[in-house]
Amino acid sequence: MSDHAQHPVSTLAADVPTFADIYHDSIMDRENFWAEQAKRIYWHKEPEQILDDSNLPFAKWFVGGETNLCYNCVDRHLADRAEQDAFVWVSSEINQELIETFPAVVDSFEDLGNNVEFYTDYAKRRLTYNDLYKEVNYFADVLQRHGIGKGDRVIIYMPMILEAAYAMLACARIGAIHSVVFGGFAAHNLAIRMDDAEAKMVITVDASLRDGKVINYKNLVNQGVEQATTKPEHVLVVNRGILPFEPRNVDVDYATERRHSCEAHAVVAPVWLESNTPSYLLYTSGTTGTPKGVQRDTGGHAVALTTSMDYVYDGKAGETFWAISDIGWAVGHSYTIYAPLLAGMTSVIYEGLPHLPNPGIWWRIVEANKVNILFTAPTGVRMLKKQDESWMTRYDVSSVKSFFLAGEPLDESTANWLSQHLGVPILDHYWQTESGWPILSHTPKFNHKPHKQGSPGYPMYGYEAKVLNEETGEPCRAGEKGLLAIKAPLPPGCLTTVWRNDERFVSSYFGLFDGQQYSTSDYAVTDEDGYFYILGRTDDVINVAGHRIGTQEIEEAISTHPEMAECAVVGIQDELKGELPIAFCVLKDQSQVETTENRFRIEQQVIGAVVKSLGGIARPAAIYFPQALPKTRSGKILRRSIRALAEDRPTGDMSTLDNPAAIDAIKQSMKDY
Ligand code: AMP
Repeated sequence: MSDHAQHPVSTLAADVPTFADIYHDSIMDRENFWAEQAKRIYWHKEPEQILDDSNLPFAKWFVGGETNLCYNCVDRHLADRAEQDAFVWVSSEINQELIETFPAVVDSFEDLGNNVEFYTDYAKRRLTYNDLYKEVNYFADVLQRHGIGKGDRVIIYMPMILEAAYAMLACARIGAIHSVVFGGFAAHNLAIRMDDAEAKMVITVDASLRDGKVINYKNLVNQGVEQATTKPEHVLVVNRGILPFEPRNVDVDYATERRHSCEAHAVVAPVWLESNTPSYLLYTSGTTGTPKGVQRDTGGHAVALTTSMDYVYDGKAGETFWAISDIGWAVGHSYTIYAPLLAGMTSVIYEGLPHLPNPGIWWRIVEANKVNILFTAPTGVRMLKKQDESWMTRYDVSSVKSFFLAGEPLDESTANWLSQHLGVPILDHYWQTESGWPILSHTPKFNHKPHKQGSPGYPMYGYEAKVLNEETGEPCRAGEKGLLAIKAPLPPGCLTTVWRNDERFVSSYFGLFDGQQYSTSDYAVTDEDGYFYILGRTDDVINVAGHRIGTQEIEEAISTHPEMAECAVVGIQDELKGELPIAFCVLKDQSQVETTENRFRIEQQVIGAVVKSLGGIARPAAIYFPQALPKTRSGKILRRSIRALAEDRPTGDMSTLDNPAAIDAIKQSMKDY
């Protein structure tokens, strides 16, 4: 057991204030409010200053304080909950049948010290805080023995397996900065991130499974390394035994290294980091083709997540939280890994799809693990809603006390369907990769205001969120549409800058009005009761199944096609996934698509270029070949008008259009389809 295990989770004063008091204090008495919240975590050295706002919009929280995220997530719980589960891992991709096809999978679990139970249609491992402590120490030891230390960047490109969690926590333990890349992204995405982060190491697996189909992660990493200018010194491979693993010169086999660490009973002391030291980078799409490296700090991040688990989610130590998300997204970082552990809860890590092996899998996992709080994006629920109702009713889900949804608009019928079957509050809430925790939410703990359908709630403590007039920056009246903005300083836990690009942080997020308003790039409106409603993005970013994709990134991939003159990608409404990208491609020689055969070939090539560059998530749902794209006189493509045409809505004022004939060209191209 750690020498540092004498700092169990502390709770705040027993008399619970009202949410209105909390919100008021968080804005009007900011420093005292956050000084109080900071007591929730263990500080090796107490902060000297709660907030340094001398250089806004850059805010520094808990200046001079020293802490460690991994220590707070793991070691601190050894005193009180060493034998409680920290994680429950369930995979519906690994099952009895699969291990007969891939017998090496069983050996590999053994090699990795992974005590997995196999069932007919899933596999499971429970991992106590004590087990987690050991595994994270082994992982940290392996990292250190391969030259990784404080400030080094490590890319984690892994499926939903326990080793991904160990890798993140091990980085946090030794002060390395992780950057998790979503497993659905392609080699090109990886290469961009390797270069921007100047990653010293990549951690990956041989392969993964999606609906039984093998996904060759290692090959994608090899291609990413080839494309990247900055080559990692090592590629650490967790060999799952799915594909044969032939180590190349930079490759390191994790199981072999782990064995050394395990035999040596390796214990790695947590590295105490000044609160503002970066803990991780998470790249997210913006309006330009290059993703932004959202940078999170250490102390503010730990305080914000711990506080949110109490004040927003009403999660308690010993309870079970399941954020059904991939670790490649902000939700996976904050609410699958860090926040539940910070709060001493059990977190479920699920490898699999919502409807396989059958549409009852979520509820079966809930029943088996007595999940108390659920969190996912509406898309997954919409998938289940299409299935036979009996899948929902055959399991005992009475352990659930609330179900949070975020990432995309929650439609009424999905919310009603869930609420009818679960009989618990179905709570829409709103946040972004940048914020890392909810900006708008409902708060079941405080019973502050009744839940209102269609609204993700009201501003959370710490966020001075307002709807501002786009032109003037003045606050909008209730009912008036405007830009959702947050006045600097952003509260703890939000991005502190864009990795190595302070200028981009300021220009992307604080470029409007007086330079002190963070723009969410979402339109919103409030009602008379102070509830907020999200009305969609102000930029060319689309939201596919709760995931943000820049249309420009897709356009860049399409433009690599040798026949392409220009193209425009827009998102259109989709019943299941919220939005889907569609592409309008103008070819250098339009006669190329006159025959069905040629047209099909070019369509497939365009789709192939997008999937190769960005992964299947960005795959266009349709490709049209108009003669021209509508543009303003200054040459700007009018994507909003194209989108209106695609959705059969009025295009609005077309007087600024340089080439009115393009409107008919767009309509004609959709008829030809
Ligand atoms: P991401 O950073 O990928 O999580 O995407 C954040 C974006 O998703 C926001 O800027 C919104 O456009 C959208 N979003 C998140 N939560 C909600 C919600 N509850 N309702 C509507 N849109 C949401």
